[in-house]
Amino acid sequence: MPEIPGETAESDAIARRLCDIGREFYARGWVFGTSGNFSAKVSGDPLRLAITSSGLDKGALNPGDILEIDSEAQVLRGEGLPSAETSLHLVLVRQAAAGAVLHTHSIWSTLLSDRFAPDGGLAIEGYEMLKGLSRVSTHEHREWVPILENSQDYVALSTELSSVLAKHPDCHGVLLRKHGLYTWGGDLAEARRHVEILEFLFEAEARRQLANQP
Ligand SMILES: [Zn+2]
Repeated sequence: MPEIPGETAESDAIARRLCDIGREFYARGWVFGTSGNFSAKVSGDPLRLAITSSGLDKGALNPGDILEIDSEAQVLRGEGLPSAETSLHLVLVRQAAAGAVLHTHSIWSTLLSDRFAPDGGLAIEGYEMLKGLSRVSTHEHREWVPILENSQDYVALSTELSSVLAKHPDCHGVLLRKHGLYTWGGDLAEARRHVEILEFLFEAEARRQLANQP
């Protein structure tokens, strides 16, 4: 594949960062068994998105496992196939102005996404850790995390994700039922922080509910 001069160093740095995130998230139990996928913008116009190749162990990624795709999910750089869930990443990049998108399959997000799917989402409020979400400055914030039914039809799921984002433009993450979390940020650091904060909140909320505390 031809390289675009000047973008190679940036591409390599982003690929290394995505590999680091894979190792960390695997160690923390958020992306077991080749689950999850990660992306980050290399450039915005035209879009070049670095994204993990499909079906790989996220705890053992190498920079060569990171592809670059365009806005139509065509591979511009690297060998392999982008994840089946790439269309969801592209919706978030376009509609939520995401510079990075991280998708995880944790135990707590899986359990909560099933428990609250009939309500269409999960409300989390009162926790100090909510302030780790961008634009949130008080524990009195009420975070609504929309939940979509899981599907292998990613075209339909992309349309649903788009309408949920239009309805809840201030949300920081979306759950897929019995599947996992999608969150994002302006850059990889912000998206990584959102995973860490939301996973903390999911575990706190799930343990509280299991203990039947008010
Ligand atoms: Zn997934």
